[in-house]
Amino acid sequence: MSTRDFIEKDYYAALGVAQDADAAAVKKAYRQLARDLHPDKNPGNADAEARFKEVSEAYDVLSDPKRRAEYDEARRLFGAGGAGARAGFPGGFPGGAGGGQPFDLGDLFGATGGTRAGGGAGGLGDLFGGLFGGGGAGTGSARARSQAASGPARGQDVETEATLSFEEAVLGVTVPLRMQSPGTCPTCHGSGARPGTSPHTCPVCQGAGVTSRSQGAFAFSEPCRNCRGTGQVVDDPCPTCAGNGVTNQTRTITVRIPAGVKDGQRIRLAGKGAPGRRGGPAGDLFVVVHVSDHELFGRKGNDLTLTVPITFAEATLGATLTVPTLDGNVTLKVPAGTASGQTLRVRGRGVPGRGRAGDLLVTVEVAVPKRLTPAAEEAVKVLEAELGDPRPRITAAVQQGSAR
Ligand SMILES: [Zn+2]
Ligand SMILES: [Zn+2]
Repeated sequence: MSTRDFIEKDYYAALGVAQDADAAAVKKAYRQLARDLHPDKNPGNADAEARFKEVSEAYDVLSDPKRRAEYDEARRLFGAGGAGARAGFPGGFPGGAGGGQPFDLGDLFGATGGTRAGGGAGGLGDLFGGLFGGGGAGTGSARARSQAASGPARGQDVETEATLSFEEAVLGVTVPLRMQSPGTCPTCHGSGARPGTSPHTCPVCQGAGVTSRSQGAFAFSEPCRNCRGTGQVVDDPCPTCAGNGVTNQTRTITVRIPAGVKDGQRIRLAGKGAPGRRGGPAGDLFVVVHVSDHELFGRKGNDLTLTVPITFAEATLGATLTVPTLDGNVTLKVPAGTASGQTLRVRGRGVPGRGRAGDLLVTVEVAVPKRLTPAAEEAVKVLEAELGDPRPRITAAVQQGSAR
């Protein structure tokens, strides 16, 4: 039994029962027909033989509650054959009679690539997966799954996290990342076929993956339902991947995190996600970056920030300071008369970036000693007497008794 069987065959009609017929009614109808059509009763009658097979197949499905539910669901989604089928595809299939490339089969039908297809169509892979996946329901499910895996499909996008030191985030770093993602099955190398067997060309679409159907004045291209658009079918699925061609694998890959990433940033590394299948392109890798704090530096966009204590003498007289950067030391001039809290800019010594690098922003703070030696205290008192009142306007206002 295949997907196509589910969609095209009307098992209820075959048994002559209503869609809501209960199990007893189905059984009764089958018994009657099986008696009438039995080959022993109809020797040499090809029609009766074909009908007998049809009835048996219908009963196989309808007598099994699980398979009957799957069958009903398939008919509901894809239409009970004929005209209803197209409307059942939630996203619709764009591309009409002459459309050379009506849709991206890999995205629509890849077992893992479905997220890329827009809108409702993206769910199609999931629908198939839900209907025919899960295994255990007989050969039909394994076969349907293997078919999905046998065409080119884009690899899955993978998201992972990386914790970087402050310097690594600023300067860029190459890190090994361990991740779990679907990868090409090592047993069948992605073909989905049991080793020693190989997939063969789908007999329904002759390998094209597409069938066309006329409806009124229009012709529609649709993914072939027998092979689910892959052009190939697998009869004997690979035992490792159940015919998917893909298994979940732990991989360690080395990725270059570019310079200048920020804490919480999600960076996309094109083509570093799960490998594609059968020539399909690899998915993308998204890395959410966590950046540790630095004991000295902070960041403001592409600028590095650094707070540097200076003495009163340095602030007053001016000084040349040597300060660290993430890449060697730099010297900077503190002009005479620099106020505490003033920020000095060292161009180009911040976060390296595409185009212009950021700056190093050095904020100077005049250090006020908590304790003084007697000699220092004497010296400060002398200085204070020399400098005089630092706030003459305030003093004047105070003397007037009001600031108005
Ligand atoms: Zn395999
Ligand atoms: Zn086909």
